[in-house]
This record gives sequence, C-alpha cells and structure tokens, in this order.
Amino acid sequence: MRRACVAGNWKMNNSVQESISLVKELVPGLDKIENVDSVICPPFIALAKVSDLIKDSKIELGAQNLYWEEHGAYTGEVSPGMVGEIAEHVILGHSERRAYFQDTDESVNKKILAALKVGLKPILCIGETLEENEKGRTGDVVKRQLTGALKNVSIEDFGKMMIAYEPVWAIGTGKAATAEGANQVIKEYVRDEVASLYSDDAAEKVRILYGGSVKPENAREYFQQPDIDGALVGGASLKADAFIQITEAAA
Ligand code: PEP
Repeated sequence: MRRACVAGNWKMNNSVQESISLVKELVPGLDKIENVDSVICPPFIALAKVSDLIKDSKIELGAQNLYWEEHGAYTGEVSPGMVGEIAEHVILGHSERRAYFQDTDESVNKKILAALKVGLKPILCIGETLEENEKGRTGDVVKRQLTGALKNVSIEDFGKMMIAYEPVWAIGTGKAATAEGANQVIKEYVRDEVASLYSDDAAEKVRILYGGSVKPENAREYFQQPDIDGALVGGASLKADAFIQITEAAA
C-alpha cells in the first residue's frame, strides 16, 4: 500500500508574513488528519520561518527549485545544501520552470542528482502540453521526461522520490484532466516506464501524484483512482480550508 501525499506548491505567492498566517491556520487542521503525508512548498524567503512554525507538527517542508552547484559565483541561486539544511523535499522540473526558466530534461537531471546527494527528496514533475496531448504524444513526452530526469539515479535513490504527473494544459487553468484519464497516463506510461528503467517493484512502490486544478470539489475523484497516490496542488494550496479539505479527501 502506498501512503497518500498531498503537497502544496505555493509558487511565487505569500510574503513571509502571509506565509506565517497561512501556516498557523494549516497546522491544527492538517495535524488532525491521519494516513496522509502533507508537504508545503513556500517560496525560498519563507522556508526558514515556516520550518520553525511546523517543527512540532506532522507537516513536511519542500522547496520549489534549487541550483545544482554546491556554492560559488551564481548570483541569485540557492544550492542543494542550503535547501537541504531546512527542507526535506524539493519540487523539480515543474512545467513553469521548464517554460519560463529554461529547465530541460538535462538540467532537471542535474538538479535531481544534486538534491539526492544532500539527502533531499525530489518531487519530479512531468507532463505534456496541450499541443502534445492533441497530437497523441503524451506517452512519448512523459517517457522522455522520465528517462532524461532519472539518468544515473540509482534505484535506492529513486525510492526516495515522488513523481507528479501534471498535464501542462491543466495547471492553473481550471481545466482539470479527468480522473480516469490521469490514472490511465500514470498507469500505462509513467509506472510502465519506471518498470523498464528500474523494476516492477519500483513501479509499484513509487508514489505518483496528480497535479492540475485540483480543488476540494474534484479531489476525491482523483484519490479514488488506483494509480493516483495524492496531489500536487497549486492555487488551492493558498487557502487553508481548501488545502485541508483536499488532504481530508486523500485520507
Ligand atoms: C502546480 O502548480 O503544480 C499546480 C498543479 O497548480 P494548480 O493546482 O493551480 O493547477
């Protein structure tokens, strides 16, 4: 049995003060929910403060990105060691980073290897664009993204990761994928590719989240699918009651 996980990607939202207010609402609500891992991923500037606020709660902390070099003259970047000092997880390969900040399968791979080296647990995001979907290329795209991102990642290290299948056309658009459609992609392409890269056992064990316009109203449908183990939530993770309701649905 894979344990459910609901992760909130706050993206570039919430100042430190706003993060503090949101976390203070989240802690009592999420702490009551059993059998689900809760991860929140605030912006870099709020990580340290949020880490203090959640240290006695069951909430786990994630970052939204990192740079693969250990230190040096990389103005504006944050190293794996810096992130690893505060957070447990890191979102890598998010489609917004691929679209606006030149992340590629190769750079995502470097980031994953660097994150694993300092003990961070990557949440690898994959997913096809609308055009790729309409051309029937979903399977090829997610398989290519997995193969590229997981190059030289050992099976032991892979066991520490989660995957988020996030069709690009469903992120922040309100056009969520159908639960059956998302489950089919995850089963037929994502788990299948993990089985060929690693093993049937690794494919069975890896937690795969769905992401793309998940809300309290539609969350349950996704969690009822056999191959969907939780959600990566963007917009709805910014409201405490919505994120708590989604997490309750996963329980
Ligand atoms: C995301 O940013 O990973 C995401 C799924 O966003 P939203 O829930 O807003 O579609």
